[in-house]
Amino acid sequence: MNIHLAATHAAEPPALGNCFRCPRRGVQTIRVGEISTPGGPGHTAAETPLFACRTCEQELIVIHQRAHEPPARRYVPARPH
Ligand SMILES: [Zn+2]
Repeated sequence: MNIHLAATHAAEPPALGNCFRCPRRGVQTIRVGEISTPGGPGHTAAETPLFACRTCEQELIVIHQRAHEPPARRYVPARPH
């Protein structure tokens, strides 16, 4: 199973629905990615779109940015005496 989230997903119009990440239901959601399983012997490939509410979309973007930003302070080793 693969989960793929994209910060800039194909521009699909926002729709009312359920957020995959939080308990909000019937809110404005945007498609942020999909869960996919590859096909193989005995099973077919499948894709499940994931929709997130605006709040969670922002939080996912923050998670993504924080994971790639450099440390706030460069590590400086203590000087030997
Ligand atoms: Zn949400």
